[in-house]
Order: sequence, then structure tokens, then C-alpha cells
Amino acid sequence: MYFFENIKGDTLITGKTNIVGLIGHPVEHSMSPAMHNAAFEYMGLDYVYVPFNVSPDNLEDAINGSRSMGIKGLNVTIPHKIRVMNYLDEIDQTAGLIGAVNTIHFHKNEIKGYNTDGVGAVRALEEVTPVKDKKVVMIGAGGAARAVAFQLILSGIESLTLINRTVDKAKLLKNEIETRIESNVSYGGFDILKEEVARTDILIDTTPVGMYPHIDDKPVVSADLMHSKLVVNDLVYNPLQTNLLKEANKAGAVGISGLKMLIYQGVESFKIWTSQEPPFNIMEKGLKGLL
Ligand code: NAP
Repeated sequence: MYFFENIKGDTLITGKTNIVGLIGHPVEHSMSPAMHNAAFEYMGLDYVYVPFNVSPDNLEDAINGSRSMGIKGLNVTIPHKIRVMNYLDEIDQTAGLIGAVNTIHFHKNEIKGYNTDGVGAVRALEEVTPVKDKKVVMIGAGGAARAVAFQLILSGIESLTLINRTVDKAKLLKNEIETRIESNVSYGGFDILKEEVARTDILIDTTPVGMYPHIDDKPVVSADLMHSKLVVNDLVYNPLQTNLLKEANKAGAVGISGLKMLIYQGVESFKIWTSQEPPFNIMEKGLKGLL
């Protein structure tokens, strides 16, 4: 009994409990169980969220096994977000555009994949500013940049400038976006940063610069390049107050922690699995206990 209480607060896990979870490799440091289980418990939903460490060799078996065992939903993290698409019955339109899945719903023997990362980022931004018709500068051109870029374009931004250390990767992402969706995307290296930040409305840092344990890293943009009307979103969530956000504060700009995106992508996954909107503040409280 004590064991069950540890997993799921006061509620006993029974044969009726719905199981959702996370597949990734590794998963030991995931904060998602704390966030989802806090919301399930608060809402009195008979669900439990469990992380599963699945090696790449076992991915297909894990998806088929999850279906066989009646698992209701999964989050998908590194390194499975792209390859998992091969094992699903259906892929949501946005996830198809992004080319990656971070949420799976097992429903009536059908397995459907979604991507909630981009929606999560846009919801975080829209707490402080509408994104429609805004100019956006994004630093980085990896997996997170790709998800957020597509969703921003779907949400009607005016323009997107991709700035990356490896300029060819920014060019590749720009070309891929433009072949898939009507958009206004430009790209470059750090040499165009000053000019681009000066004329933009929103700056998003999708690099891991400043992430724990490298919290003293020099931020990718300093306060002297920012302006007071700028919204600065750092996707890093640990620490909560990154050096980039400290620079934003110095410049009088609005800063948004990556924690907001993390929570909102979780909110969107939770909605897919349960058809209910979980309370943001309860999920945030669950996470903050870990930071
Ligand atoms: P990724 O695919 O490996 O891409 C990393 C990007 O950052 C690449 O464009 C890379 O440039 C650039 N980069 C790495 N180190 C750099 C440095 N020292 N200076 C300049 N650029 C650098 O990683 P990802 O999956 O996109 O994740 C990126 C970050 O976003 C991580 O910190 C992750 O925790 C965070 N994230 C947060 C959330 C959230 O919910 N808040 C969700 C997803 C990801 P090159 O191309 O030159 O290598």
C-alpha cells in the first residue's frame, strides 16, 4: 500500500486506473510525471503517468506493447520523436508538418500522433502578446526550433528569421519550412543578430545555452542589443531565471521562461488524452517542487 501511495498520493491504483506515460532514452530526469500526476490527483481523475526508458531497438515493440496493454497515451521524447511516426496509424496535420511527434493517443485501437511542443510555445507567448502579424527572430535550428517555427507560422506571424551557429542548418530548416507551408522566412549567422533583434517584436532562444549546469554561459543576446518593446522567450527552463532573461530584464523587455512552454505542451497532451483542460497552476506547482 505504501508503494502505491508514493506513486499516486492518496489514490490507490486499481485495475480501472488509466495509464499514460513517457517513452524516451533516457527518462530518469523527466519532470513530466510530477506535472501530470499533480493535475490528475487535483482533478480526481483515475490516471497515472509513468516514465518508460525505451532504447531505440525496442521502440516498435514498445508502441505495439502499449496498445496491447491498454495504455491510453504517451509522451515521446529524445531520441524517438521522428522514428516513432513509422509505428502510428495516423498523424495529426501539424505533427506531419513539423515532422515529429511528442504525444500519442491510443483510442479505439487506433494510434494517433500529435505534436504539442509548438502549441505549448505559442500559448506561453500569447500570455503576454498575440503572435499574429509579429516579427520573430529565433536562435537555433534544432528540434525545438522546428516545432515552434511551424506553429508560429500557422498562428499568422509576419516574418521569421532563423539565426544559427551552423548557418547551413538554418538554411536547411528555412527551405524545408518554405516547401511545406506558405511563409516569410529568412536566415543567417550571428553576424545579422544585432540588426535583426533591433527590428523584431519577439526573440526566441531555442539553444541550450545557459541550461543547468552551465548557468554562467554568456547569453546569446546581451541587453545592449535588446529594446524595451521586445518579448524574450528562453526555451531553457532550468534555471527559471537564465542569464538571457536577466539581460531582457536589464533592457526593460518582457521575459518568458521555458517553463511556460513545458507546462503548456503538457496541458495540450493532457487534453488529448482526457478531453479536459488541466489547471496550469497545479501543473506548475508540481514542477516547481523539482526546480
Ligand atoms: P537540438 O536539436 O540539439 O538543437 C540545438 C540548437 O542549439 C542547434 O541549432 C545548435 O546549433 C544550437 N546550439 C547548441 N549549443 C550552442 C551554443 N553553445 N551556441 C550557439 N548555438 C548552440 O536541441 P533541441 O531539442 O532543439 O533543444 C534545444 C533546447 O530547447 C534545450 O535546452 C531544450 O531543453 C530546450 N527545450 C525546451 C522545451 C520546453 O518545453 N521549454 C522543449 C523542447 C526543448 P548548431 O546547429 O550549430 O549545432
